Amino acid sequence: MDLTTAKTRVAELHNILNQYNYEYHVLDNPSVPDAEYDQRLHELIDLEEQYPELKAPDSPTERVGGAVLDAFQKVEHQTPMLSLGNAFNEADLLDFDRKVRQAIGENYSYVCELKIDGLAVSLMYEAGLFVRGATRGDGTIGEDITANLKTIKSIPLRIKQPLTFEVRGEAFMPKKSFENLNIARAEREEDLFANPRNAAAGSLRQLDPRIAASRNLDVFLYGIADLGGTGVVAHSEGLDLLDELGFKTNKERRTCANIEEVIQYVNGWTEKRPHLPYEIDGIVIKVNSLAQQEELGMTAKSPRWAIAYKFPAEEVVTKLLDIELSVGRTGVITPTAILEPVRVAGTTVSRASLHNEDLIRDKDIKIGDYVVVKKAGDIIPKVVNVLVERRTGEEQDFKMPTHCPECESELVRLEGEVALRCINPKCPAQIREGLIHFVARTAMNIDGCGEKVITQLFQESLVQDVADLYKLTKEQLLGLERMGEKSATKLLAAIEASKENSLERLLFGIGIRHVGAKAAKTLAQQFETMDALAKASFDDIKDINEIGEKMADSVVTFFEQPEVAELLEELRSFGVNMTYKGPKLVTAEDSDSYFAGKTVVLTGKLEVLTRNEAKEKLEAKGAKVAGSVSKKTHLVVAGADAGSKLAKAQELGVEVWDEEKLIEELNK
Ligand code: NAD
Repeated sequence: MDLTTAKTRVAELHNILNQYNYEYHVLDNPSVPDAEYDQRLHELIDLEEQYPELKAPDSPTERVGGAVLDAFQKVEHQTPMLSLGNAFNEADLLDFDRKVRQAIGENYSYVCELKIDGLAVSLMYEAGLFVRGATRGDGTIGEDITANLKTIKSIPLRIKQPLTFEVRGEAFMPKKSFENLNIARAEREEDLFANPRNAAAGSLRQLDPRIAASRNLDVFLYGIADLGGTGVVAHSEGLDLLDELGFKTNKERRTCANIEEVIQYVNGWTEKRPHLPYEIDGIVIKVNSLAQQEELGMTAKSPRWAIAYKFPAEEVVTKLLDIELSVGRTGVITPTAILEPVRVAGTTVSRASLHNEDLIRDKDIKIGDYVVVKKAGDIIPKVVNVLVERRTGEEQDFKMPTHCPECESELVRLEGEVALRCINPKCPAQIREGLIHFVARTAMNIDGCGEKVITQLFQESLVQDVADLYKLTKEQLLGLERMGEKSATKLLAAIEASKENSLERLLFGIGIRHVGAKAAKTLAQQFETMDALAKASFDDIKDINEIGEKMADSVVTFFEQPEVAELLEELRSFGVNMTYKGPKLVTAEDSDSYFAGKTVVLTGKLEVLTRNEAKEKLEAKGAKVAGSVSKKTHLVVAGADAGSKLAKAQELGVEVWDEEKLIEELNK
């Protein structure tokens, strides 16, 4: 990039970053994920390194991000409240360590702390009494939020020694409180908070302290602004002193002898992080000795003796290149976003399901848009929203087709459904998807027969329906791409073995609408043979616990089709098992178990059995295990810390057992 272009880009980045900073720090309502902000900031840092003459004194790279709301009294920080430099990977950490070593030699240690995702606060104590609390603001001037901070119960109003000093920490909102707050806001149709950090900041920057008081905020203290008078010589000692004085510090901190130990700590928390009851966005690494901290000094924005390692971004921005359509097993047309590959929470993502047309319209997604992507439940990539402000006018609207992309028959939208469907039963895509479903691990479990093999078998017209799988010969398989003697033998053996599966796998595999794996098991257990189920009436099926009318109707309609009867006959002729082989259903009539026909509720923490084990054992003895206590409950088994369910049982006079009694009776 030449100087002129760089100059224009720097000006653009100033505008963008100032806007993002304003939304984040002033409005507590960011419009882009942190990763997008960080990326832009680093683009600016790189340009300023390349062209130092473009570095303005008011550049966003030179300032601590926050701003001060006029509504609050201003507080001047005697010791500036700084930001932290960032590390995004191991190389950045090693680089930080190298710089530390160059400056202070070999003899040093680090303290690693969780980087709590909240907002920095300063607490002033005079003669041991809490007198003033403030936000970080722009690092020099913050906002006086004493009244709000006093509502946080873990902030001591008086500490155990009459010290006059300033302590610093992170105020935050625990995950649970955040969820509850957003649920309540959704019910009142109020805007939701983007994340716990913004919710915490929004709560503490309210003029009415009753709001902060209602938000269940908490705080971890992580430092003393000026350790001068305390006799402490290391950061870790400062934290211990905070503990002694009655402050709440985070106990997961660790002193590390070298950067390798730091990396281990970082990796450990990358894994454990989801299990914490509060959000962390990284690990803060600090040189422990205060004398060495002083030697290292600081830049205008951050200390040189500390760095914040940021976890891989969970929300990132990328370009939506195209929208592809696929036809599912039941004919549903699903649009999928094709994305410019991007790293999200540690893996590369290039596709994300858009589910249906309504979602595309609701989110106003166009081809060519920049979109925010995250992994829902940490696994499945999802498009969160569009960055409308990044549109150039080149983006294209997406229209769902009127005809099936595979078989060209007209698509329909069934009543009460958002999805468009191809209802042609001969649609090749549906047949192929049905075959893939049939062989899947959760269905007939035919190993070695993945999507690629099925697609080839189908394209070569070797397999047109599931019965054809049982006619395959080794010669035919050897004709497929990448299929050697060994794989072919294995595949034939897997097909052969699948004939012995218990009925529920076949039932799930043949794909009856609305019948999932669990319902297939219930039906198989109840009717025991395919014939019995095929002959069952709507009422017979509907009367089964957990089977609704929609499913009963679908099962009856399925077995009424002559093609189904033909297919089943063919499968039978190949020796495919059609009986249930699992544990028999125990009913009240044919069991002498105490539990037969009884409704049992499990509550509290069991010590010996897991919840699932207890449930399975009870069900095997004929009990129904329910989730809530009612008049129909026969028995409640209460473990440690049982709460409202136990109370309800006592109120209704339902019999209550402990785990020991349960095990004793189960063993009879
Ligand atoms: P930072 O969050 O990267 O690090 C500094 C802060 O870490 C401290 O002020 C302190 O509050 C906190 N912290 C938590 N635990 C700590 C501990 N144990 N020890 C020391 N400090 C600890 O830097 P920043 O300048 O506060 O904010 C930048 C962050 O805000 C980045 O994550 C950036 O992505 C985000 N941001 C996002 C937007 C947006 O539009 N999405 C805009 C501006 C900033």
